[in-house]
Amino acid sequence: MFNSLSDRLTATFKNLRGRGRLSEADIDATVREIRRALLDADVAVPVVRQFTAAVRERALGAEVSGALNPAQQVVKIVNDELVGILGGQTRSLQLAKTPPTVIMLAGLQGAGKTTLAGKLALALKEQGHTPLLVAADLQRPNAVTQLSVVAERAGVPVFAPHPGNTSDHDMADGALVGDPVGVARDGVAEARTKQHDIVIVDTAGRLGVDELLMQQAADIRSAITPDEVLFVIDAMIGQDAVTTANAFAEGVDFTGVVLSKLDGDARGGAALSVAKVTGRPIMFASTGEKLTDFEVFHPDRMASRILDMGDVLTLIEQAEKAFDADEAEKMAAKVAGGEDFTLSDFLVQMQQMKKLGSMKKMLGMMPGMAQMRDQLENFDEREVDRVQALIQSMTPAERDNPKIINGSRRARIARGAGQTTAAVNGLLDRFAQAQKMMRQMAKGGGMPGMPGGGM
Ligand code: GDP
Repeated sequence: MFNSLSDRLTATFKNLRGRGRLSEADIDATVREIRRALLDADVAVPVVRQFTAAVRERALGAEVSGALNPAQQVVKIVNDELVGILGGQTRSLQLAKTPPTVIMLAGLQGAGKTTLAGKLALALKEQGHTPLLVAADLQRPNAVTQLSVVAERAGVPVFAPHPGNTSDHDMADGALVGDPVGVARDGVAEARTKQHDIVIVDTAGRLGVDELLMQQAADIRSAITPDEVLFVIDAMIGQDAVTTANAFAEGVDFTGVVLSKLDGDARGGAALSVAKVTGRPIMFASTGEKLTDFEVFHPDRMASRILDMGDVLTLIEQAEKAFDADEAEKMAAKVAGGEDFTLSDFLVQMQQMKKLGSMKKMLGMMPGMAQMRDQLENFDEREVDRVQALIQSMTPAERDNPKIINGSRRARIARGAGQTTAAVNGLLDRFAQAQKMMRQMAKGGGMPGMPGGGM
């Protein structure tokens, strides 16, 4: 699922790698590629429009960040916006104050409602709940039997009308048979009597959006006043997802969305539009035919998955935290203002690097961070202590203006730090390089990033 979208976005970001500051034209080109990737993945047009506008605006005004290069900043922005269209925060089931919590399932026929009923029941049972399944789908031949089968597999009881009500013969002319509203109401009453703390009501689907069945679902909703109405949607249905979701939002209204068949390899972008278009959160994902192929939907994790980043973003955020933004900004302002980058600044940078170095192992797991990973791999944390000792052995005047450090000063500094003169020379060489780099960056208007490699 989302594989081609994922590949396209990753390729777009790859083009940005290794760039310094991004120009407006760079950002526009990137945004255009993102737009195409989303449209090709079937994400609804208005959603794409809002999404790309937000990314463009934020990328243009991108916050100065010491820990992230421009490409990483764009990835972070795209990620944040993706999390946004996927509904932001993880939304868990709202349990009723006085049980039973009533959950109603709605959606097109074949969306995966019955399967989901079993999955949800199993997951809830494993959490210590005592769910009851109610078969109020009297429309589809075999729906009741099918629900009984999943209930048995999940090891939860099912409340169903008499089999006589649902024979194929009754369906012959497609009329609604039995009394699904009555069954739903009785099912909830049964849950109350038998002290089930959760009751899941499976309702009839429809092949397309059908007035009569929509009315039936609305009637069931009024009769049982559910705590949650979950709209189950097949992630593979393409652009129809938005129309269908809107029809259900209007006809029945729902409190949350379940994406089913996320294991398929369709483009799936339409499913991504549903939360944004209806303003209802995606709560669960169904990812296969087995009852255990079921997960709570985490917008942030899904976004990372789409961006093919594993948990990279969490790591980037930690890196950002470790890298003191105030220090980075102070230094940027200083260098940009034509002031010289001093040995004291160099020390601060090394210390920042050390903080990041303690995350070396975690950073090592990050794809796309190869450059930083190599730097950190070669980074010896004890080196920071050695540099610190040398710099502390200098006078303030020497720190501000290393040019005055002649032979006798070098010997004194080395002695004070308990190191060799060669170590002092090495530090001053590296510092001269860093200073040169800083001057170049100041000229180009760029941000000082990580201290140069080779440490
Ligand atoms: P309902 O009509 O909404 O109750 O849909 P069903 O639960 O009967 O599902 C329709 C078909 O989709 C069945 O063949 C299910 O096995 C299949 N199905 C349901 N959920 C998933 C899923 O997450 N992944 C896959 N691959 N198939 C699913």
